[in-house]
Amino acid sequence: MATIDDVVRTGVCVGCGGCSAATGGRIPVRLGPTGLYKADLSNATSHDKLLGSKVCPFADESRNEDEIGESLFEGLPRDDRIGYYRSMFAGRVNDDTRVESSSSGGLTTWLLRALLESGKVQGVIHVGESNGPLFGYVISRTIDDLDQSRKSKYYPTSFGDVLRSIRGDGQVYAFVGIPCAIRSLRLIAESDPSLQSQIKYAVGILCGHLKSAAYAESFAWQLGVEPEHIETVDFRIKDRNLTSRQYSFGVKDRRDGEWRTAQTLSLVGGSWGHAVFQPEACNYCDDVFAETADVVIGDAWLAKYEIDWRGTNVVVSRSSELDEIFAAGDDRGDLVREPLEIDSVVRTQSGNFRHRRDGLAVRLADDDAAGRWHPTKRVQPGYPVSDERVRLIRERRNLSSVSHEAFAEAKSAGNLEVYLGAILPLIESYQSSTKMTLTRRILNKFKREAWKIVTSLRSRRQSAGQNQ
Ligand SMILES: Cc1cc2nc3c(=O)[nH]c(=O)nc-3n(C[C@H](O)[C@H](O)[C@H](O)COP(=O)(O)OP(=O)(O)OC[C@H]3O[C@@H](n4cnc5c(N)ncnc54)[C@H](O)[C@@H]3O)c2cc1C
Ligand code: SF4
Ligand code: SF4
Repeated sequence: MATIDDVVRTGVCVGCGGCSAATGGRIPVRLGPTGLYKADLSNATSHDKLLGSKVCPFADESRNEDEIGESLFEGLPRDDRIGYYRSMFAGRVNDDTRVESSSSGGLTTWLLRALLESGKVQGVIHVGESNGPLFGYVISRTIDDLDQSRKSKYYPTSFGDVLRSIRGDGQVYAFVGIPCAIRSLRLIAESDPSLQSQIKYAVGILCGHLKSAAYAESFAWQLGVEPEHIETVDFRIKDRNLTSRQYSFGVKDRRDGEWRTAQTLSLVGGSWGHAVFQPEACNYCDDVFAETADVVIGDAWLAKYEIDWRGTNVVVSRSSELDEIFAAGDDRGDLVREPLEIDSVVRTQSGNFRHRRDGLAVRLADDDAAGRWHPTKRVQPGYPVSDERVRLIRERRNLSSVSHEAFAEAKSAGNLEVYLGAILPLIESYQSSTKMTLTRRILNKFKREAWKIVTSLRSRRQSAGQNQ
């Protein structure tokens, strides 16, 4: 049986802060030199470690997503890929100004706002700008605060302190988190009646993998802003003339207050497939659709939606109450929605499924072959893919691992080239092995162009209808 000791010793701790919350802070979680949070077990008693292990998303003592999901959502239909579900759809807010300042379709903030405005919650626990690190868990109690914290923060976070701060305050909250955070939150709540009654809604955010603080720093540095001069960053700046995938990264330089931006895909490490600065924990994640959350929201990465600069969410709901809120929004014309079939929902996250199913099986089998400890997962170790694919999976894992060390060295040397020199050859090698076949590229281009035509015909027909 694994314990939290194994999780931390092997670098699989994602720094979520669950063990800290469960032990009243006796297990502190600290930001380390590679820009990732990690639990510090040096003063923890064996009892503390046991409490921590029970809520740790990577310890074998904790209940897994299937077990937690069953106690929360039994009776709902279930699919092995997305977990339990009640409804699923693609959509966005019907307001171009608001959608522009959201990561994707803006439905996460829209839903949280509906919960706050209706008094169903008094606060929202989510991620926004913090004192100290650039971003961290914060509590929003007003619509203004909520709006300040829109957009994805591809940045490490830890929720232990904020959860402890609200415990027993008599107020009710919605909690927003990536799948591993929600799993830990559910486990904490199971043995803590106070938090159980206070966290009324668990809103999941789809997560391909987490990034260390170096992700933001490396982009800023490439734009001429050294890490110590970063005031803040924006990971998802939209452009009305481009597709939703072609978003930009921006950094505000604290020396002159100016924003510098570049299309994320043009920056070294800007492709999510390269997995730079991915924590080791994400090599062991098998929960794509936040299976323990009441609702999970992500990007609907399908050609049909991708061509729309505004961004479109994919949503899987497991709650009748939240379904009613969405339906009421629809009736008022606040939202634009269309239902999705399960297979389409899954296709919005094709890369994530490759990484979390076949990729995970290969990594587990590699660990077994090398005699390395790994957490017990719902995916079985094995080599279900071609040798070429196995090689790619290993290259990607190596790329993540090298990125952390190389960037830490670049920072101590005060020279970005130290990082770029180490990572570029690995990215180039990975990229040349993953090059899409010509047929696949033509097919993808054809799909996007076809959807552009369909969309423009539809809007012409709609405006013709309105003019009649
Ligand atoms: C690390 C990470 C990886 C992701 N990977 C994928 C992916 O592979 N596929 C995919 O479809 N979607 C992914 N997403 C989700 C996606 O980026 C959007 O967050 C999601 O589509 C919601 O968009 P929205 O417009 O509804 O959000 P908005 O209305 O802009 O609101 C975003 C909300 O999320 C909260 N938030 C931001 N960052 C975090 C965080 N780190 N932890 C917890 N809450 C946070 C904000 O506080 C805010 O409440 C990822 C998000 C994160 C944080
Ligand atoms: S609960 Fe979270 S912070 Fe604690 S050891 Fe596990 S992964 Fe790390
Ligand atoms: S990929 Fe999984 S383990 Fe990694 S941060 Fe996302 S939810 Fe957590």
